Amino acid sequence: MDTAESLIADVAIDCPGRDRYSYRVPDALADVAVGDCVSVPFGPRSLRGFVVAVERRAPPAGVTLRDLAGRRPDVRVPPHLLGLIQWGARYYRCSLGEFLAGAVPAPVREGTRMDAEISVAPVAGFAAKVTARQRAVLDALAGETLALADACERAGTDRAMFDRLAKLGAVTVSEHRAVQEVRLDARAEDHELTDEQRIAVGEVSQALTEGIQRTYLLYGITGSGKTLVYLELAQQVIASGKQVLLLLPEIGLTPQLAARVRRRFARVAVWHSGFTDGERASLWREVAAGAFDLVVGTRSALFAPLPKPGLIIVDEEHEQSYKQESVPRYHARDLAVVYGGQLGVPVVLGSATPSLESVHNARTGRYAVLTLKKRPLGGRLPTPLVVDMREECHAQKKQAHLSRELIDRLRGVQERGEQAIVLLNRRGWSPVVSCTDCGHALSCTHCDISLTYHKGAARLRCHYCGDQKPMPPVCPACQQPTLGTFGLGTEQLAATLAAEVPSLKILRVDADTVAERQGHAKLFQAFSEGAADCLVGTQMVAKGLDFPRVTLVGILCADRALSVPDFRAAERTYQLVAQVSGRAGRGAKSGTVVVQAFDVAAPSIRCALDHRPKEFVDAEMDLRRDYGYPPFSGLVRFVWTSESQADVQLVAAEHGRLIASAASGDVVLGPNPAGLAFLKGQHRWHALIKSSSRGAAQGFLDRLDALGGLPRSRKVHVSVDVDPYVTS
Ligand code: ADP
Ligand code: ZN
Repeated sequence: MDTAESLIADVAIDCPGRDRYSYRVPDALADVAVGDCVSVPFGPRSLRGFVVAVERRAPPAGVTLRDLAGRRPDVRVPPHLLGLIQWGARYYRCSLGEFLAGAVPAPVREGTRMDAEISVAPVAGFAAKVTARQRAVLDALAGETLALADACERAGTDRAMFDRLAKLGAVTVSEHRAVQEVRLDARAEDHELTDEQRIAVGEVSQALTEGIQRTYLLYGITGSGKTLVYLELAQQVIASGKQVLLLLPEIGLTPQLAARVRRRFARVAVWHSGFTDGERASLWREVAAGAFDLVVGTRSALFAPLPKPGLIIVDEEHEQSYKQESVPRYHARDLAVVYGGQLGVPVVLGSATPSLESVHNARTGRYAVLTLKKRPLGGRLPTPLVVDMREECHAQKKQAHLSRELIDRLRGVQERGEQAIVLLNRRGWSPVVSCTDCGHALSCTHCDISLTYHKGAARLRCHYCGDQKPMPPVCPACQQPTLGTFGLGTEQLAATLAAEVPSLKILRVDADTVAERQGHAKLFQAFSEGAADCLVGTQMVAKGLDFPRVTLVGILCADRALSVPDFRAAERTYQLVAQVSGRAGRGAKSGTVVVQAFDVAAPSIRCALDHRPKEFVDAEMDLRRDYGYPPFSGLVRFVWTSESQADVQLVAAEHGRLIASAASGDVVLGPNPAGLAFLKGQHRWHALIKSSSRGAAQGFLDRLDALGGLPRSRKVHVSVDVDPYVTS
């Protein structure tokens, strides 16, 4: 047995449970360092992991360590990022290896390489003398820019020929990184800052200069110019030789912001999900090598390996898409605040409708508040009109989906050459298909969910598991040809609008119409170029868009989300209504919002429309405090899933007893069947633990760990979600 000291690496491996496993470092890898991606033998398998410690020590008595098997060249997680990930794994209760696997993209870990893309472009106006052969090659290009392989094929030649032509100045041969196109545009924004913007910039700027760490809540109404504040601050950070991280809820939904950032700065990486594996791996390595000054992207961009982050900005900080709903179940805004603290750099959280958590942090002094109350272009916040759909149906003597008010105004918008946005947060033709005779409703075989009818595709689809089938000709229960569709989705809405206002050019934006890669960007571009008068869509149309010609916004079924059993239902409704109304009147002209609802008195809708944020927030805070919900508590949710209903019930009950014994002043709700008790073929039970604060919730989890944690079951999967956003 070898008891002599040797070099030992502790490695985090992507599996639940232990954070680190020890390996002997062979001489060939003696320069291995913390953050390196390595391959290790693990049982009979070879797995990928990350080195989290290297030291010379004696292995534990009686243990023979296995050797590190290899190392990826050029993949090293920077120490500050590793620090964040360690914090995250502890807080969100997964293993360090699981968190690393979620934070470092698989193609990076797997070492995927991208074929260098080489293109050949003829130089316009080139007139110098060339040989006849060279002339023939140039003619073959016909003035087009081609990929090298295509150019070679077309001209019947090889790369050497193009290199010679490049020397002569007849063509350019460029090897470009497929992952970024630098588009510098002379139209870069040169607005003078408004007074409010100047004050906001000044405060953070001073913190930057003096090296003060602080989190700022940039609370600016829709259209108040938050982006310009971000850009000014980014400029200062970049000038000081550091990098900026700009997080957005969904890149496809905020193409304009990404475009504005790229117009202003040259070395920008856009971090989105549309990359090929090779592109993603290559982008990661380039970011780590310091090739970019600014990374803009969705929640996972927080883990971009910037060498020296100097500022973190989280735009639309209230958006739920910052929460990841699979392991690691982190919240990118919350982690951004932690990261800022660890790095000692400012964090700016921007929103027109801040989350109650952030407002609470501002009110208790944890965050500094910067406010923007005016729209620089002079447009005022839109005038609201609420239509009571009960009265409307009565007046129209039918089950009306569209109010006369909205239709009249849409006509007016079109006549004046303006534009409108109509929001309905439900896609497809109809959300319910049922028998008008026996009442049987069609639901998914794998989920406890009704099927949605999609007319264009002529399919019934489950929006949860994606299962689909054709519409049956007769009711499966009573065999009568009496199936009917009920309720309204965006597909039907667009058709109904087209029937009501035949001359109105309509563009529909929902998950069905944007299915193809980067689809949103194209649709929004078309709309901003005036290809349609009216954008009809799901919540996708609510976010961050800036179309100056939009003067009318319609919101259908505004109160529908309020019936969802979730303590954030009112907050979400408020945010959606305020955000989508904020799309109107962003240019010089003011706008109108027409809201259709059955519960027209709901405070979340009224306050959003009447621009009374404080009233809504105060009332909602009181409710949260009374019922013990965040921001006045810390939540933990457990979910048990299994194909067997009996097993899931048994294990949940057994785990429930352990949970109860770890609780100490914490309220335990459940275990009981989850709101969606059957999903994707799995039976589901859940439990919600309410502690007095986030810290107290961590205390509860520590006590549960001290009891040995929840015992593994082969048949039932259990997940833990810290600060859950889905609670039913
Ligand atoms: P927000 O993100 O706060 O909703 P934006 O940043 O999209 O708002 O700004 C709204 C509009 O106002 C944009 O068209 C932007 O170009 C314009 N804008 C912002 N700041 C100024 C300014 N200081 N002067 C003139 N126009 C501005
Ligand atoms: Zn389903």
